[in-house]
Amino acid sequence: MKYLIILGDGMADEPIESLGNKTILQAANIPTMDKLAAMGRNGRLITVPEGFHPGSEIANLEVLGYDVNKVFEGRGSLEAASMGVPIESGEMAMRCNIICIENEKIKNHSAGHISNEEAYQLIDFLNEKLGSDKVRFFPGISYRHLLKIKGGDKRVSCTPPHDVPGTPFCDVMVKADCPEAQPTADLLNDLILRSQELLSKHPVNLKRMAEGKDPANSIWPWSAGYKPNMKTLLETYGLKSGAVISAVDLIKGIGVYAGLKPIEVEGATGLYDTNYEGKTQAAIDALKKNDFVYLHIEASDEAGHEGDVSLKLKTVEFLENRVVKPIFEEVLKWDEPVAIAVLPDHPTPCRIRTHIAAPVPFLIYKPGVEPDAVQKYDEESAKEGSYGTLTGEEFMKALLA
Ligand SMILES: [Zn+2]
Repeated sequence: MKYLIILGDGMADEPIESLGNKTILQAANIPTMDKLAAMGRNGRLITVPEGFHPGSEIANLEVLGYDVNKVFEGRGSLEAASMGVPIESGEMAMRCNIICIENEKIKNHSAGHISNEEAYQLIDFLNEKLGSDKVRFFPGISYRHLLKIKGGDKRVSCTPPHDVPGTPFCDVMVKADCPEAQPTADLLNDLILRSQELLSKHPVNLKRMAEGKDPANSIWPWSAGYKPNMKTLLETYGLKSGAVISAVDLIKGIGVYAGLKPIEVEGATGLYDTNYEGKTQAAIDALKKNDFVYLHIEASDEAGHEGDVSLKLKTVEFLENRVVKPIFEEVLKWDEPVAIAVLPDHPTPCRIRTHIAAPVPFLIYKPGVEPDAVQKYDEESAKEGSYGTLTGEEFMKALLA
């Protein structure tokens, strides 16, 4: 048996008035997903343990059977894996945004979604001026970069910059959680202040300002952690090999620590215009070569963040028509059976335009396994599923058992 998880990021939702009080999944035309639910067994999965914020990194780690209490080491270390930057023991990794500050206040977390090309010049410059044996910046994508500090202490409180637009930056600088972490907090705050002085005069920013664009005039490090201590899925479940397909660095990074090979797909954007056909073909090819594939599609989450009901409906139907249906039709022709699971990582309700920590509906279709009574794939139907409500590694065990 081979195993495929198709994850529609954020696709679970609440009943929506304009849809006759149906959820997106209930209103969408998704006959293949319904068929898989009817031929398979269903349930709900708690993907965000108590005390954690419902971030995609948390929820995807839990879907893959990891206990985030034990393995979560911040975004930086996960994104580092996707960027090919190893975190050694004794090193601390942090997500490092380059942000726009105006009149001493955080204007935005993205420096106006600065281009990669401009960002690379700034990161190079920061390494030249602020880099040392201890401090190193690594370029990522747009405003999302990586800061690695040798000997850093992760017991520091940092503020995600997207949470505090309009706030004076001085009010949300790094604080030590214990006296031992004070030198790390001092170092980070010093780097922030020195970056502001250096970046404000850099030609890239002078040009951006002349063009009326937001300058990237400060670094903003957050989400500190060490190298995650994760056993691979291959070790845990005795799989021979696996692959991950996603446009999102965080998910690819989780995949790398999980022992999955990240597969790059041209035109995978993470938006509704993503190259669905390319990702579908990549998943089919990866399933031929591996016995486990994690296929992550971001688009429905983005539509939820935009609060756009008809767009979100469209992304779920794209997932049906351009991913689930062609993959199912293909694998039916194969000699080796393929188990397929479909689920989101968390709901991203259009009404509130952000993630929530409610249980998500899942289906597991395994050829040869007797189905339960559920006939459709959606939030309500899944409550009647024979798996009930699962937590932690129970979902992966149910799929791979
Ligand atoms: Zn997500």
